[in-house]
Amino acid sequence: MDLLNKATQWRGEKLRAIKPLMNDARSALVLFSGGQDSTTCLAWALERFAHVETVAFDYRQRHRIELDQRLVVLEEVRRNFPQWAGKLGQDHFIDMAVLGQISETSLTRDVAFVMEKDGLPNSFVPGRNLLFFTFAAAVAWRREIRNLVGGMCETDFSGYPDCRDNTVKALQVALNLGMDRSFVLHTPLMWLDKTETWGLAKELGGSTLVDLILEHTHTCYDSVRGPKNDWGYGCGKCPACALRKRGFEAYREGRSSL
Ligand code: ZN
Repeated sequence: MDLLNKATQWRGEKLRAIKPLMNDARSALVLFSGGQDSTTCLAWALERFAHVETVAFDYRQRHRIELDQRLVVLEEVRRNFPQWAGKLGQDHFIDMAVLGQISETSLTRDVAFVMEKDGLPNSFVPGRNLLFFTFAAAVAWRREIRNLVGGMCETDFSGYPDCRDNTVKALQVALNLGMDRSFVLHTPLMWLDKTETWGLAKELGGSTLVDLILEHTHTCYDSVRGPKNDWGYGCGKCPACALRKRGFEAYREGRSSL
């Protein structure tokens, strides 16, 4: 057997060996960073699909603590929600250092958060969510997973153009053409504000899930855990903290929106 055949056969065996799933509508891959939004998306997916895997990206973000916290969150979800634990499958971790190398932003450099002249915050990492979904789709292709779930939101975030509904819809078309699959890209938070995202967590997992998110998720742009606030841990000043804090206070007071 020549080496090419041997390599191809080996690859085929390896692919078969890691093919436990069904190429149908029951499986999902969640872009899971360990923050409030992606934890809520994870719960949404666990409630909806029979088999759920998770994927995270290390792009040398400043708030690297989220990459540690996400494992804690996964463990806590397993521990607190036995009805979901059996559905929660493999966790994938992808090194995307190249994104940090090509991005001069406040998420990947030690510089203060400011608004740029073009109206975008300097936390904008160009193309980040396009790349995340594309890499997630590559994982899903290999794992024969049909549904991709991300926490992108158009309602009250910072105007990132790659979080927009039309961007995600266009990307779904591009991925399906480019990979010859029928992926469905889900963004359950797209039209919710942060208050409603807390409300969705409550609906999905009751106060147990809300408390889990408060205690274990990390949203702050800085790697600050610090003392616990009513709304969880964080510096309290960066845009992510401000949004989370405002949203939680409105949620707690029973207001419907910010
Ligand atoms: Zn913060």
